[in-house]
Amino acid sequence: MSEGFDKKRAILVERLVQTGALRNRRHIDAMLTVKRHLFVWEGYEKHAYLDSALPLGETGQTISPPHLCAYMLEALGPWVGENVLEVGSGSGYSAALVAECIAPSSIAPEAWGRITTIERVELLWEFAKENLERAGYSERVDCVLGDGTRGFPPLHKEELYDKILVTAGAPAPPTPLMRQLKRGGVMVIPIGGKQSQQLTMIIKGESGRVEKLPLQRCEFVPLLGKYGWG
Ligand code: SAH
Repeated sequence: MSEGFDKKRAILVERLVQTGALRNRRHIDAMLTVKRHLFVWEGYEKHAYLDSALPLGETGQTISPPHLCAYMLEALGPWVGENVLEVGSGSGYSAALVAECIAPSSIAPEAWGRITTIERVELLWEFAKENLERAGYSERVDCVLGDGTRGFPPLHKEELYDKILVTAGAPAPPTPLMRQLKRGGVMVIPIGGKQSQQLTMIIKGESGRVEKLPLQRCEFVPLLGKYGWG
């Protein structure tokens, strides 16, 4: 069974490379390594290697499609040793992909970076935590329950993260997240309406100056919360 999944995963990744969604060797390796079938809702395992979003039970939330995860990785460029924040854990799949890049199992744990992922729906926070543990990422990923638009720790210190990934559609970049992004850091966030958005790369320069680069159109579930949609 696992062999069948490995083959399907390799075919999917090959297709993402061919279409240009996936380019960097480290990101290709991460997508080859993380077993998406361990992150889908029970009963959806056979669809795990289709390039589509899949429902997460009755929560109304979805696991993002692999091509979007690929675009997000390429834009974010997570590097070994970095400190990363993710808002919207969902299944935990994208957090595992980032963990593979900042803390690959091939290097010594002392050199590992760390990712903190926040989820506002309790059932999904538990789901993501269990999936990450089962897939072997519990030492590299911290799962937090709460409103990620307030930052983590909420409204607290500044310039904590090298990279910030938001995997739900926002009306605008939440102010606490902008403050918690380090100088020289990158945030990737879908910005736009509740139904469809533009994946956006935000670069905070060494001087603190912010540049926004619009990337492709995308459709994420809405980012709710204090600095999201109400
Ligand atoms: N990255 C996920 C997909 C996320 S779907 C994966 O790989 O599976 C978006 C998630 O963002 C949903 O689970 C939703 O509940 C969550 N979300 C929305 N607003 C949020 C907020 N303010 N704080 C934390 N999580 C939020």
